[in-house]
Amino acid sequence: MNPATESLLQALLHGALMQQRRAMAKAITLLESTRADHRQQADALLDALLPHTGKALRLGISGVPGVGKSTFIEALGLWLVARGHRVAVLAVDPSSSVSGGSILGDKTRMEKLSVHERAFIRPSPSGGTLGGVAAKTREAMLVCEAAGYDIVIVETVGVGQSETAVAGMTDLLCVLQLPNTGDDLQAIKKGIMEVADLIVINKADLDPDAATRAQATITSALRLLGLHGRATDADDDGAPRVMQLSALQGQGIEAFWDAVQSFVDRQRQSGRMQSRRQRQAQAWMWERIDAGLREAFAGHPGVRERLAPLTEAVLAGRTVPSVAARELLAVFLRSQEMAC
Ligand code: GDP
Repeated sequence: MNPATESLLQALLHGALMQQRRAMAKAITLLESTRADHRQQADALLDALLPHTGKALRLGISGVPGVGKSTFIEALGLWLVARGHRVAVLAVDPSSSVSGGSILGDKTRMEKLSVHERAFIRPSPSGGTLGGVAAKTREAMLVCEAAGYDIVIVETVGVGQSETAVAGMTDLLCVLQLPNTGDDLQAIKKGIMEVADLIVINKADLDPDAATRAQATITSALRLLGLHGRATDADDDGAPRVMQLSALQGQGIEAFWDAVQSFVDRQRQSGRMQSRRQRQAQAWMWERIDAGLREAFAGHPGVRERLAPLTEAVLAGRTVPSVAARELLAVFLRSQEMAC
C-alpha cells in the first residue's frame, strides 16, 4: 500500500474514531466499493476498526412496507437520543438494486432523527445480491460501533430472505405487524416467527380491540408452535414478548425498550448473546467464502468455456445436472491444483 493510501486510511480511521460523520460516510463508501484495490484498503480499515467494535446493541427491525418501520425508528431513535444514547440506522434492502435507489434508511423518512447530532442514518447499499448487500451492511455496522454508536438499528423489509439475513447480524430481531385480521396468520405461515425475538403490533391506536386480538392470536400461535428460546423464551421473566404500540403517537416506546433490555440482559447472562455473535461471525465468514468461490468459479476461463454447452445439455436432458456440475468443478479445481 502506498504512503498516500496509508495516510488516507489513517485519516478515515481517526475520523471515524473521533465520531466524525463525514469520515464515517467516506469509510462506508469505501467498504461498499467493488473495486479490487478499494477492497484491499477496506479490509485494512476493518482490521484497524475491529478492536473498537462489538460494544453496541444490535437491533433488527423488520416488517412489510407500510407497517410503520420508519415511523417507529424515528420515534424510538428520538426517545433513545433524548436519553443520551447514540443511534445509528442502517438498512438491508436488496430490492434497491432493482429500483436503482434505496427505499430504506432514507433520510427523508426520518426527518428529525436524521438531523440529530447523536444519530447517523445510512441508506441501504444499492446493487448486488442479498448476500452482498447484507455483507456491506455488516461492515458498515462495525464503522458505526467504532464511532461510538451504542445502538445500531438495522431495518429491512419483511419480504423474502432479508429478515433472516438481519436476524443473522443482530442481537435481537423485532418484527412489526399490523393489527388487522389475517396479517398475524400470514406471519406464522411465512415462518417469520422462527426468526423473530420480539413481535410488535403497530398502529394499535387505529383499532385497540383488533390489536389486542392480534396479540392474543400471535401469543397462542407461538405457544402452539412450541417456539422456545426466542420470542417465547423458556426462562421468561414475564416481560412481554408480543406487544402492541403506536409509533405514530409514540405510545409503548418505553415498554418496548424495557422488553429489549430484559431480553438482552438475559441473553448476556446466559452466554447466549456471545454464542449468537460467534455463530454470526462464523456464518459471515462462510458466506464470504461461498461468495468468493462462486465469483472465482464464474470468472474462470475454462469454466466459462464449458458452462454454456453443459447448461444446454442439461436443459435438453442430454446430461445429468450432477455430472455437468462435476465436470465444471473438475475444470476449476484442476487449474487451482496447478497454481499451487
Ligand atoms: P414503513 O414503510 O414500514 O417504513 O412505514 P411508514 O413508517 O412509512 O408508515 C406508513 C404509514 O403508516 C405512514 O402514513 C405513517 O404515518 C403510518 N403509521 C405508522 N405508524 C403508525 C401508527 O402507530 N398509527 C397510525 N395510525 N399510523 C401509523
